[in-house]
Amino acid sequence: MSEKGMLIVLSGPSGVGKGTVRQAMVKKYGQQFKYSISMTTRQPRAREVNGVDYYFVSKDEFEHEIANGGMLEYAQYVDNYYGTPLKYVNQMLDNGQDVLLEIEVKGAMQVRSKVSNGVFIFLAPPDLHSLQQRIEKRGTDDSETIKKRMIKAREEINLMTNYDYVVVNDKVDLAVQRIEQIIASEHLRVARVLSSYQKMLGDN
Ligand code: 5GP
Repeated sequence: MSEKGMLIVLSGPSGVGKGTVRQAMVKKYGQQFKYSISMTTRQPRAREVNGVDYYFVSKDEFEHEIANGGMLEYAQYVDNYYGTPLKYVNQMLDNGQDVLLEIEVKGAMQVRSKVSNGVFIFLAPPDLHSLQQRIEKRGTDDSETIKKRMIKAREEINLMTNYDYVVVNDKVDLAVQRIEQIIASEHLRVARVLSSYQKMLGDN
């Protein structure tokens, strides 16, 4: 109904399971939105594919994109850059497609200041213990990095107040269901459907 797509920002502390929930969202509801693939300077992990999981680039390439105004948002996170290429997001929104971003909290706040009608969802852990367990179980970080990620996670949970919704990631299926409900409700907001009705009334 509304001409422009809706920007959905899924964010939250490191290790909360954003990636897992995002993948489950894409699998179940992937027809309903476009996932924006991020750009990063970190090394690919085993089984990660360039252009699918991330666009893996050098620091120089990333900084070049920043300088050219090519990023909707970006952040330095645990010694690497991560960011959202602007062009794809704008193209999809202009086509009337919803776009899903899965990004850390600093980037989400940049998007918040730029896209006032975005939907900002904070994925929260049921508790801090389960968060640490999840990071350890993933087995991709050494103990120093885990320590850094946990310090960061505590700071990040405080940022929940800047979001529209909090979704507890106790079970991936339940989190996905809650996010889908949020998206469905957001589409029914008067502000999102008003212009098409106004157009209809104007046409008669
Ligand atoms: P990881 O290295 O575990 O893949 O990601 C580290 C963090 O970077 C996660 O919290 C992830 O959500 C975040 N992230 C991934 N892509 C982006 C992005 O495009 N922008 C920002 N700001 N954060 C991102």
